[in-house]
Amino acid sequence: MVEMTVAVEDVGSALPAHLSPSQLSTFEKCELSYWFSSVAGWREPPQLPQIIGSLVHDVLENLMKLPKVERDKAMAWDLLREVGANTISVHQSWLTDGTIGVLKQRSADSLSNYFKLEDPSQVEVLIEDLERPVTAIVKDVKLYGRLDRITRKPLTRISDYKTGKKPAAKYLPESLRQVMLYAAGLKIQGETVHEVELIYLGSADRVVRPTYPNALDRALLDLVNARGNMQVALERKAWVAKTGPLCRYCAFEKVCPARNSDAPTPGSEASNQQLVQLGLEKRVRSNLPQESGLPFDD
Ligand code: SF4
Repeated sequence: MVEMTVAVEDVGSALPAHLSPSQLSTFEKCELSYWFSSVAGWREPPQLPQIIGSLVHDVLENLMKLPKVERDKAMAWDLLREVGANTISVHQSWLTDGTIGVLKQRSADSLSNYFKLEDPSQVEVLIEDLERPVTAIVKDVKLYGRLDRITRKPLTRISDYKTGKKPAAKYLPESLRQVMLYAAGLKIQGETVHEVELIYLGSADRVVRPTYPNALDRALLDLVNARGNMQVALERKAWVAKTGPLCRYCAFEKVCPARNSDAPTPGSEASNQQLVQLGLEKRVRSNLPQESGLPFDD
């Protein structure tokens, strides 16, 4: 990985009101990518893995909303067909026969793997504990995120579905931090979470960890430190670009000075024009007060 500090134009935006676990990860992987998406407001075009991820999440959420006796494989596949058809129709302008085939295969494989890991008819879950928003204020930093589900028997556990495969051990802490942050946010609100769980649907694996106080504190510290570093970068108008394998999937690669020495200054008219030509759009920032406004890109 090569790091390069990149000067940007002042785009007149403050930091988003909230910081989500996924934004935290984006910032740590590459500050400049975070700046393009969360400060300058460029909407990254949908990519197949994210679309498959949201399709499978929607199917599992809808399955869990049903009475326990109805949560069987036949119902899951009916939901997959229904939600999948809708997903394909929403993205039909850019999906090809090939990508639709990949989408169908991977989402079906994810559901098959899900049934290897648990029997949904045995899962006790309240509808309000599905896709539940979590907000908390930690040292003036507003945490916001949406967890996949909480189950409360035999103990309280936050579960997060991952449509990828279980990663190598060195990458697990980052994924665990996301669910630890939710557990820490709920603890601030007075709710105790005993365990967090990552359910890897790409490889039929699960990872369960107790919510050690140290792990919760470390996750919150990361959040607060990152927010402080974001504020410094915003004031300096200089963000660190971290080049590496992820650049291949980055929507801003063509206008990134760390990847392209001819790239104009990010935030300049020339840079913005190139992004528009690449098909990216800018989001409109909410003018709601920070307390009530939703985060910029959640
Ligand atoms: S191309 Fe790479 S270095 Fe540049 S913004 Fe994207 S992730 Fe960061």
